Amino acid sequence: MNQPLSSAERAKLYISVLKCPVCGGRFDGTNPPNLTCPEGHAFDRAKQGYFNLTTRPVQGHYDKELFTARRNMITDSRLYASLHETIAKIIANRGTVREGERASGGLVVDMGCGEGSHLRGILRELGPSDWLGLGIDLSKEGIRMASRHYADGLWVVSDLAHAPLQDESAQVLLNLLSPANYQEFKRILSPEGILIKVVPGADYLGELRELLHGDSNKRDYSNAKIVALFRRHFSKVEVMHLKYQQRLGADELRDLVRMSPLAWSAEQAKVEAFTSQGSAEITIDLALLLGRHPQLG
Ligand SMILES: [Zn+2]
Repeated sequence: MNQPLSSAERAKLYISVLKCPVCGGRFDGTNPPNLTCPEGHAFDRAKQGYFNLTTRPVQGHYDKELFTARRNMITDSRLYASLHETIAKIIANRGTVREGERASGGLVVDMGCGEGSHLRGILRELGPSDWLGLGIDLSKEGIRMASRHYADGLWVVSDLAHAPLQDESAQVLLNLLSPANYQEFKRILSPEGILIKVVPGADYLGELRELLHGDSNKRDYSNAKIVALFRRHFSKVEVMHLKYQQRLGADELRDLVRMSPLAWSAEQAKVEAFTSQGSAEITIDLALLLGRHPQLG
């Protein structure tokens, strides 16, 4: 196994993949912890350790309560542990496209990382390695929480449509249960890189969906359009399915409701009926869409 990178080496690598969100210039890495481009645009590192590389103020509707619930579900209840394990295996085995060659490391970027728990879980599964994690999200609250809990990654507040990353800088791009920007993904993905997008399957959180929206069109869900669009943008596309159930206790059911957009528009009485169950089996049903850069097509 290779020696893990030192923190100075990590910082240098991180700075080399970022770009100035104003002019696109490279940052000078000689004056850490702050970033300055040749045009003089400067960005301070927040005291929690993240960078805010947005060029205009943003107001997200995702709040601290939601991210705390999400973090509890992902990190403590380990509801997505099988997903993290599966993605780590994909990265370890297929992170490069050259036949017969194992991936040895590189940059793993989570586009729309929220509070960072998925990226953290996946990197933990990868074990000590040369994979560097970088999470991008427009929510400052999410990024702040990520950098507080997972100090060894790099966390950046940014619009996904204008990600402050160099062209072809990511060996692995993740987009987990979060909106995509394929033009930008193609720009950032290295020619030998892999994009892993995760979307819900028809039975994802089916118990919650049925109880809250059993009598409306929100009950049914199909990812067919998303899969078709993905196939149009990327090459060598594979679709993998992951489905399992986990029993959640009362506190966990409350966290599940807090983190699920599905529940935000539901009647309060139905939400209470769901969370007042002592425990319930919950279905995780996901499709993993794997794609390569279209230039390889
Ligand atoms: Zn600049």
